[in-house]
Amino acid sequence: MLDEAVRLAVREGLLDAPAPVIGLLDVEGIRGTVARLHAAFESPAPVLHTFAAKACGLVPVLQLLAESGMGCEVASPGELAQALAAGFTPDRLVFDSPAKTIDELELAVDLGIAINLDNWQELERLDAVLAARPADDRTPRGPLGIRVNPQVGAGAIGAMSTATDTSKFGIALRDPGAEEALVEAFRRRPWLTRLHAHVGSQGCPLPLISAGVRAAYELAEHINTAVGHRQIDSLDIGGGLPVNFDGDEESPGHAAYVAQLREDVPGLFDGRYALVTEFGRSVLAKHGMVLTRVEYTKSAGGRPIAITHAGAQVAARTVFMPRAWPLRIGVFDADGVPKAGPAVVQDVAGPCCFAGDLTAEGRELPLLEPGDVVALYDTGAYYFSSHFAYNSLPRPAVYGFRFDGADRARFALVREAQTLAEIVAESGAAYADSLVGLVDAGAVESMRAAAEGTPGDDPAGNADDNPGRDPGPEEVPACAS
Ligand SMILES: *Cc1c(COP(=O)(O)O)cnc(C)c1O
Repeated sequence: MLDEAVRLAVREGLLDAPAPVIGLLDVEGIRGTVARLHAAFESPAPVLHTFAAKACGLVPVLQLLAESGMGCEVASPGELAQALAAGFTPDRLVFDSPAKTIDELELAVDLGIAINLDNWQELERLDAVLAARPADDRTPRGPLGIRVNPQVGAGAIGAMSTATDTSKFGIALRDPGAEEALVEAFRRRPWLTRLHAHVGSQGCPLPLISAGVRAAYELAEHINTAVGHRQIDSLDIGGGLPVNFDGDEESPGHAAYVAQLREDVPGLFDGRYALVTEFGRSVLAKHGMVLTRVEYTKSAGGRPIAITHAGAQVAARTVFMPRAWPLRIGVFDADGVPKAGPAVVQDVAGPCCFAGDLTAEGRELPLLEPGDVVALYDTGAYYFSSHFAYNSLPRPAVYGFRFDGADRARFALVREAQTLAEIVAESGAAYADSLVGLVDAGAVESMRAAAEGTPGDDPAGNADDNPGRDPGPEEVPACAS
């Protein structure tokens, strides 16, 4: 199905120069997953499924998810701005971040969005923010919660495991005195009504995530008993459902996760707690891919290598941690038709100037040739939306598509490719002379004289005619056109 989209995208010219790398998103696939997510969590209590914006903060994607009934979890002012631009109403936003500033807390309170507080200092800071408000405006409108780290341990990828003993996230629940302090914090603040746990992301098995949710649920029960009423009325169980990176199927899927939760934490679904989820990868990963052309092929030390335009800039995790984040690679001819042929062990490389810039190493694939198309599958989350600006490579264009009858698809632009002018502007072009301006005038003169005057250094005899050596500021617009 996705392979058919490759051919249609190529036919549409989406991979023609100057855009030899794009992101593609399957709109119907996304909507199908969102519908299955809603069905899986069907419960007597309200359930708000927020999408973790960091997984794909593209505004049209967020708007599609908003229209499909989701909310949005944001963890920075940028993500909050994207979510607001996408049309999420404040009652469907959740603000998480381990480093919220006073200004951000004030904004979140003003907007009335849900906030999950990360640590004791942040709780005190929020106390101060509320105390500084007019007397009739000190009760926050949005649900306020505390994030706990249930310390249930790590999954397969250390960097993705947020519930280790020493994780930087939330209040470490098993540390001495923490549970008592949490009970006291809720007793003193009637407006604290939520607990939040996000146990980890890719690499965490379902029983581990479920154990973390169970710890948060048991703490809520404990606190409610201790304060003598049901003060905590909602639980935010985070996201973190892993996805399958080695096949087409959506696995394990939200239904399997709910089955695990029902077994381990049956009280979660009896209607006493409203639920919030924050899935990212499991909503989008399977519905996106990166497409790129093969620019050159070569052989080194007996190993065939295909050089493409998709490397660390769009697949940073895969390139830097290939064992933790392997990707399936699709191989197509220049017309976007799947390539057959004997499997040849080869490398698929990106354009970045470092040797490790490989999206596949020693992989058996039909032999790639210049002009062929390579697909990096399962990259709808955290890939083309989390650009790495190495080598000043532009953020690629992203398109959504929808099949529209046999042999037809409609494509819609989600984001334009970044232009060279934008790259230059983001690189401080407006301040081009700022550092030279810090050097005193005499020193600048002698630097110039040294650069221009030393005979023998300049075989052409005229450094000024050599733009490769000294691109003056006036040449920047030319390269930016
Ligand atoms: C990253 C993150 C998520 C989403 O994780 P996925 O693995 O993409 O589902 C949810 N909640 C919080 C707090 C996060 O940091």
